[in-house]
Amino acid sequence: MTTASYLFPPSPLATLPIAGGSQLIPVHRIYCIGRNYEAHAVEMGHDPNKEPPFFFQKNADSLLVNADFPFPKQSQDVHHEVEMVVVIGKGGESISVENALDHVIGYAVGLDMTCRDLQAEAKKLGRPWEPGKSFENAAPCSAVVLASDIGHPSQGEINLSINGEVRQKGDLNQLIWKVPELVSVLSNFYRLLPGDLIFSGTPSGVGPVRVGDRLEARIASVGSLSLAVVAP
Ligand code: MN
Repeated sequence: MTTASYLFPPSPLATLPIAGGSQLIPVHRIYCIGRNYEAHAVEMGHDPNKEPPFFFQKNADSLLVNADFPFPKQSQDVHHEVEMVVVIGKGGESISVENALDHVIGYAVGLDMTCRDLQAEAKKLGRPWEPGKSFENAAPCSAVVLASDIGHPSQGEINLSINGEVRQKGDLNQLIWKVPELVSVLSNFYRLLPGDLIFSGTPSGVGPVRVGDRLEARIASVGSLSLAVVAP
């Protein structure tokens, strides 16, 4: 019996470092939730009332770790969205809200970088959001902190500043859909696997970045992320 071999080597696995350790999280998928803070829903022109959550995906290999953000050349209007990233450590389907946090192994600080012009065009034409949300380097992310070390944060400041000036500021307690609910709802649509990431939504204050900007994102008890926007 012969064993099948790859025609060419597999692409590298996307990974995230664990803060203060030498191990890596092997990343499977990246899910993102839209409009999960009231004030951000309002600033984007939507009803702030609790509507069922909706999700989109970024590619795992669009993670950007310990590197500056190259401004995507296909866009003229790239926005920052600071978000808490939930890291799945135990897979499952149809997970109950009560058991959801058993499936979460850690948290990180992420940026859901968005080509707002391409997203707006897609919305207008009724097309998928991919060009605006899922592009190379679209998901800068910090090291992961483990829930065994910090617990499961449900409150605490989340903010982003550009060149020292605060642009986004909110609190994790303002999440419309809380982390256990996000995990539960998502698991009704997808088979969650260890290494899945969930970007949990952004507070208000999203806006454009420019080449030369220094972005500092911070979430109390989770960590921080600092990067420059550089020419493509
Ligand atoms: Mn977002």
